[in-house]
Order: sequence, then structure tokens, then C-alpha cells
Amino acid sequence: MNGPVRIQVAVDVPLAGTFSYLTESPVMPGARVSVSFGNRRVCGVVVTPIPGEGVPELDAARLRSIDGVLDGLPPLPEEFLALARFASDYYHHPLGQTLFTALPTGLREPRDVTKPDRRPFVLTDAGLGEAPPARQRARLALWQALQDGPLDLAAAKAVTPQAGKLLADWVAEGKAGRATQEPPPLRLGDAPALNGEQQAALDALSASEGFQPWLLHGVTGSGKTEVYLRLIAEQLAARRQTLVLVPEINLTPQLINRFADRFPGSRIVVQHSHLADGERMHGWLNAWHGDADVVIGTRLSVFTPLPRLGLIVVDEEHDGSFKQQDGLRYHARDLAVWRARRAGIAILLGSATPSLETVANVEAGRYKKLALTRRAHGAARLPDVRLVDTRRKKLVEGLSEAVLDALKTRLSRKEMSLVFINRRGFAPVVACTACGWTSGCPHCSAKLVVHLMERKLRCHHCGWEEPVPRACPDCGDPDIKPLGEGTQRLESALQRMLPEARVLRIDRDTTSRKDAWDEVYRKVHGGEVDILVGTQMLAKGHDFGTLSLVAALGADGGLYSADFRASERLFAQLMQVAGRAGRADAPGEVLVQTQWPDHPLYQALVAHDFDGYAATLLNERRQAGFPPSTFQALLRADSPALAQATAFLRQAREALEPLAEGVLISGPAPALMARLAQRERAQLVLESPQRGALHRLLHQLPPLLDGLAKAHGRALRWSLDVDPQEL
Ligand code: ADP
Ligand code: ZN
Ligand code: ZN
Repeated sequence: MNGPVRIQVAVDVPLAGTFSYLTESPVMPGARVSVSFGNRRVCGVVVTPIPGEGVPELDAARLRSIDGVLDGLPPLPEEFLALARFASDYYHHPLGQTLFTALPTGLREPRDVTKPDRRPFVLTDAGLGEAPPARQRARLALWQALQDGPLDLAAAKAVTPQAGKLLADWVAEGKAGRATQEPPPLRLGDAPALNGEQQAALDALSASEGFQPWLLHGVTGSGKTEVYLRLIAEQLAARRQTLVLVPEINLTPQLINRFADRFPGSRIVVQHSHLADGERMHGWLNAWHGDADVVIGTRLSVFTPLPRLGLIVVDEEHDGSFKQQDGLRYHARDLAVWRARRAGIAILLGSATPSLETVANVEAGRYKKLALTRRAHGAARLPDVRLVDTRRKKLVEGLSEAVLDALKTRLSRKEMSLVFINRRGFAPVVACTACGWTSGCPHCSAKLVVHLMERKLRCHHCGWEEPVPRACPDCGDPDIKPLGEGTQRLESALQRMLPEARVLRIDRDTTSRKDAWDEVYRKVHGGEVDILVGTQMLAKGHDFGTLSLVAALGADGGLYSADFRASERLFAQLMQVAGRAGRADAPGEVLVQTQWPDHPLYQALVAHDFDGYAATLLNERRQAGFPPSTFQALLRADSPALAQATAFLRQAREALEPLAEGVLISGPAPALMARLAQRERAQLVLESPQRGALHRLLHQLPPLLDGLAKAHGRALRWSLDVDPQEL
């Protein structure tokens, strides 16, 4: 070596780019190092320079040296670094922050981390060739025991209590080493015989070669998970690893048990954000070192390094929880597809209600589709869906007589019902109760959102605003009001009107505790519940056993929403909750209260026609120029004062417009959830039919905006959301 070498280090700070340090001895990319940053000591990750970043020719004398390489682990693997670099690039988030988001907490600190080595000991050729002298009895005994095969430490200590010290010496002298650990032999628990559709899907998937995304579109209960399990068995038999991504809420002990029962000898690692730091890191290190066979986890597990990765499964691929809503705003499904492409393997996206993005990818021939159209349990049938027209009916506290009667009937028959209240997630649009008119924007294809305090209608897309009309502009009826109003009190009304019913409420509050779902399952399956009441959470693929009635209330709020994804979500949710109804001996019944019984969404629901309505929605999106036919990014700004956020965005728009080739910029407009934690939020929508054009503009954005934001002081914050899921 001739003197110190300069290296690039990524650290966890909100600054673009990497930082130069000096080192006396060479350090590999991926190594964790301890460095001084400002006046702190932090952990950094050594990276190859970012192309085009143009590492400035700093005077070497002014560079600091790293404090040292953090010990105990090999450098982070290339597959991990490459994924983080792609995510940083695609989501326009600083590389350092991206890397540190992807790492488990335990690896983010400037501390040495070691992975306890539990592999058994073996003699090396040198060790085998040199028997200890007979008078050293303990040594000889251990040496002889090792000649018969590998020994783990406990077994070695049973031969002689001095084994720990002896083995350490032998390893240091090169006479002993660690056995390369083979995955345990595959053992399989009981499995049902596949039905024809499942077998056909499995055959197609087993024959898949190289990179290929697959959609497994299967109605609820059609046995998708069973297909995953068969595929994973093939991977295990071939000694390859599988990554299974599931929505936050679906990572239940029931699911883990199902995997553990099927693969009793295999090493299954669970990854999610509620694990203790140590446990999370332990699983992560095992996965990275090839000592785990299956990783099941929520969105963050997409970053877990897996050297023998052979298959990725994304269950409920349409689920919103795969998109992170702050910091690095990544979509785990999309990153998983990128990862599968890089690894040259198959990725299986499963859902009863696939996202329109995925449907469009199937249409375009990029993804291949497999369908499971029937429930796996022989006799189970799809439920009858009926619409309860509420226009001419008197509702009591939002409940129609038809729904109340149906609930009472089930109660008398001691059958369980589910009441789905569509409450959250839809910004209010006003509608006419007489003719069905809704408040559309005169300047774009978005709906106007009602701001009741100011009696204004605002477009969240282009920023247009107008007063709330006093009567319907179409038919003159004065009875216009926000859609979805009146669902707030439904739950207590239910309790009052059916006092004898045992009602169990399921929402974020009642299920946030760690073992809350166990309790819910125990009650539901123990026959202690007559009516389950809840919101979105009920639409998430839980097994509530046999329900004979599902009633959906307040669904209309999602029909005409300011968020163009609202109808996609509503349809998926209704399909999912409807899928809960049904028993082996009698089809279940689904009742949907609505003022718009003729709406295509409800008509498709009645006909169980997912494909038809998805095609309708895709067409609407194409005509309106919304994703997936275009690509969007949101530039959000927030500040204690809306005026400041808007002023900043106006300046940003002016600065961006000359650079925005092929990109349409709209706004500023208030965000749909305008006020959050005492801060006002506003946004610009950037969109383009060409992903490339959009990203060329986004690339120029951070330095430009940092400059503009400086003038506004610290009260103003901005962020970018690429492929936003919520407006
Ligand atoms: P999904 O993942 O599509 O909701 P599951 O794989 O969980 O469906 O299957 C639903 C139920 O049907 C489960 O109880 C499962 O054990 C059962 N099942 C799946 N496949 C079969 C089959 N081929 N024969 C009998 N039962 C099956
Ligand atoms: Zn009207
Ligand atoms: Zn508009």
C-alpha cells in the first residue's frame, strides 16, 4: 500500500450523495465502518461511487480517516447493495437513508456485530493427518470423536469438558474448522390433494424458468396458500430459499403455524417491525448466511439478503400496506419484482382482487396469469349478493329494515353475521340524494372535495375551488350532502337496536395489541360472537369461519371519491368481505345498502365479475389519464401555515415547468388529508405517460427544491412520493 486510499461512505443523513473518507488499508464495498460525521460518531456503509455524482476532487489533506471497520460480519452482500441503490434511485431518496432503512436496527449503530456460529466442528485435512499423542487423553478422545463426523459444541463438550478451548486452538492452528451447513433434509407435513385448478397452476409454476412474474388470481378460499406451500416445498427440496411477503395484518400466528406444520424441519424466519431488535437481526443474519430456508414477513422483509433465493411470493399483492407512507416511500411488491428480475427467478403475486397495476401488466403480457375460480372446500359456494336500494326507504340511524331483519334472522338461527362499515380513507364528495349528481371538477377529471368549514369545494388535483352549491345543479333538489355521512354512529345504533346480540368490534384500536388477533379468533371460532362489526380491517383475508350474512354499510362513500383509487379499493374490499360469507351447506348472503344500485361497481359485485369491472376501471383510468396508464409522483409540502406550503409549491412549479419535458404538473392543491398533526399539507401532482420522462424530471428535483426551501426556513418540509397510493 502506498499511503491512504479514499473511499465513499453512505451514512444515515437526509443529504443526497455519499461522503469521502480515507483509509490506510483497503475496505470492501458493503463493509460497515465507524466514521465521524459532524461531531458524531456514526455507522457508515462503504459503497462504490454513485455514477455521475462526480466525487469532488477534495484536497486529501482535508479528508478525515475512518475510525475503523466494524468487525464481526462480512461486507453486506452485493444483492443487498444493488437493491438499496435501485430503491434510492427510483424513489429519489438519499442512498444513505435508503440503506439504513433497509438494514435492521441492530446493524445501524457503530458497533461490532457478530453472528453466533452454531455450525458443527470438523477436522481439516491438516487436523486429520496429525493424531494427538496418546498421553493427551482428552485431546485424543475429541480427535477420535471428530473423525467419526462433525460435532457441535455441546456434543464436543460431552466428550471432554475442555472441548471449547481445544477446538478454539485447533481452529486457530488450522486443524479444525466449521462444517459447511447444509439445509436440513426436507420433511413435509400433511397436505390435501390438490384440485384440478390448483394442480394446473402448480404445473405451470413449476415449469417456470428464469425471471417471470405470475399472477395467481384466486377467489377467497380457493386454495392459493396451498399452491404457495407446494411451490415452496419444491424450493426446499432444491435447497433454495423462498421469500414470502404478506400484508402487515395477515402475518398471524395461524399463518406461521401453517408453514411450520407443513415444513417441520425447515428453518423459517419471520421479519416484521414489531419484533425485538435482537430477534429481528438474528433472523436477518440467518437469512443472509443461508441459515434460513423461508423468510415470511411484511414489506420491510423485501430487503433481507438471501444468497440462495429461488422464489418470491407476494400474498394479497393488492394490499396497501406494501407501500410505505413515510421516509423511503417504497412499494415492497414493486421492489420484489425488481429483485426477482435481477435474480432471474419467478415471482408469484396472489390475490382475490389483484391491483389494476398488476391486471394491466397481465394485459400487456409482462405477467402471466393463473386462475382459481372455485373454493377449495368441495361444497362451499359463492354468496348471493343483493343490493338494498336506500333511496326510497326510511333508514333508522343509517340502517335499512332489510339489513336489520336479516341480522335478526341470523341471530335467531344462532348464525354469525358481519357488518362492514366503509368509513375511513375516502375524502368526502357531495352528492344529490335525488338524482345522483356528484361534484366533479370543471377543469380536470377529479372529484371536488367538500371543505365544510369554509363551505367550499376544492379540487385536490388542479387546485380549482368553488362554493358548495345550495341546490343540485342538475335537478334543483336542495338535499345535497357529503357521501358516506352517517356511518359514524352505526355501530352504537346496532348495539341499541339488537341489545341481545353479542357484538365484537374489530378495528385498528381493538387489534393493535400483540395477541389481540388470537383473542378475536378464539371468540369467533368459540361461538362467542353474533355480529362482527368493523371497517377495512375485515376485508383483509382473515378466516372467520362460517358467516351466513355480510352487510355492507356506507359503501357509496367510495363510489364517487376525490381519490381516483377509491372505487378500485371499494370494489376489492366488498369482494373480500363478500368472500367471507358462505357455508358448505348453504350459500351465504351479502347485502349492500346503496343509493346507486345501478352503478357498474355494484352490478359487477352481484355478478362476481372481477375481471369485467377491472376492465371497466382500467378503461376509465386510460381515458382520465390516471395510473396505471400514466406514472405519477407527488411533491408534498407541509408547514404550520397552508399559505407557506402553497407558496413554496408555486415556486417549485415555476422552477420545474421549463424542465418538465413530457411531464404535466398540476397544483398546488391542498392534500386530501389536509391537516395532520398541526401541519397543513399541500401538493403538486407530476404525471407523464412515460416513466422515463417523469424520472428525468424527478432527478433534477432535490437540489433545486433544497435551494428553494432554504428561503422558507425550517417550518417548511417537503417530500417526494413516487407512484403514490394515496393522494
Ligand atoms: P386462499 O389462500 O386462497 O384463501 P387457502 O389455501 O387458505 O386459500 O385454502 C382455503 C381452505 O381450503 C383452507 O382451509 C385449506 O386448508 C383448504 N384447502 C386448500 N386446498 C385444498 C384442497 N385441494 N382440498 C381440500 N381443502 C383445501
Ligand atoms: Zn340532483
Ligand atoms: Zn381539477
